[in-house]
Amino acid sequence: AAKGAGRNRFSYFTPALQVAALNRMRLTNDLRSAVKGDQLKLYFQPIVHLETGRIRKAEALLRWQHPQRGLVSPLEFIPLAESSGLIVDIGQWVFNESIQWVQRWRSDVHPDFQVSLNQSPVEFQREGGSYEVWLRALRQAGVPGQAIVVEITEGLLLDASKMVTDKLLQLRDGGIQVALDDFGTGYSSLSYLNKFDIDYLKIDRSFVRNLAPDSSDLALSEAIIVMAHKLGLHVIAEGVETPQQRDLLAAAGCDYGQGYLFDKPLPAEEFDALLRSHAAMLTAE
Ligand code: C2E
Ligand code: MG
Ligand code: MG
Ligand code: MG
Repeated sequence: AAKGAGRNRFSYFTPALQVAALNRMRLTNDLRSAVKGDQLKLYFQPIVHLETGRIRKAEALLRWQHPQRGLVSPLEFIPLAESSGLIVDIGQWVFNESIQWVQRWRSDVHPDFQVSLNQSPVEFQREGGSYEVWLRALRQAGVPGQAIVVEITEGLLLDASKMVTDKLLQLRDGGIQVALDDFGTGYSSLSYLNKFDIDYLKIDRSFVRNLAPDSSDLALSEAIIVMAHKLGLHVIAEGVETPQQRDLLAAAGCDYGQGYLFDKPLPAEEFDALLRSHAAMLTAE
């Protein structure tokens, strides 16, 4: 009877759910050792000034090189990092790596070089977490806040609590700029663009994908660009994959483009080499 009862207990769970839960637990444990070891890698993707082709900005994108599974996407492990609290250490690691690289690029490539970092809503809103640690690290490294852009998403501003507002002010006081990521996928309430001090607006890839002459996505993108400029924001288009998309965006007045047409996210060392050859090319012209 005991044997039967034992077997019955499992019938409350479907095997698929069990497997998924177990998988998450294993992956979370692996992530814990990944943070301690050297399995996290920082990649950088250039953000290209459309008019001149210059690269003076890059987005830092996190990768996890899992010993058995290979590269795990941030879309898969960031949620685990959030639910386990590991996101705090991970975010700090990304920040520390980024300031080392941006410091080099500001001295060797261009004095205004900027690196943008993603902050997930949970990461941004975490209790007790403050950006003071970052600001102190910047001061110690002698890197101005202007070297860093923080990418947040619309949802954060929609239910802007005092905590969110205070943190945004804290970043701004430290000279750090703010970009609104994935614009157009959330609630896209325009009022908060005025209410908060935002520097960049990133048009989501889903609008860029279907850009064609006379398309409704082109009309939408044009309207977003005009509006953003009137409010003093610069516009970055995500997911630019074709010359046609780039040309339509440039004609619409979009300031910057990011996407596979220019480059995929590259390991930091490769991106460093790309920047140096790019800089050499520009000064040789
Ligand atoms: P995101 O911030 O919107 O980043 C842009 C994503 O689009 C990246 O995916 C990038 O590799 C991809 N992408 C860039 N150009 C193209 C293109 O031309 N075509 C297509 N199809 N995709 C393109 P990735 O690197 O997989 O990152 C996914 C998301 O994970 C990011 O979306 C961001 O929300 C999050 N993420 C990445 N790194 C971090 C991090 O360090 N911290 C946090 N909190 N989130 C991160
Ligand atoms: Mg981003
Ligand atoms: Mg984005
Ligand atoms: Mg996006």
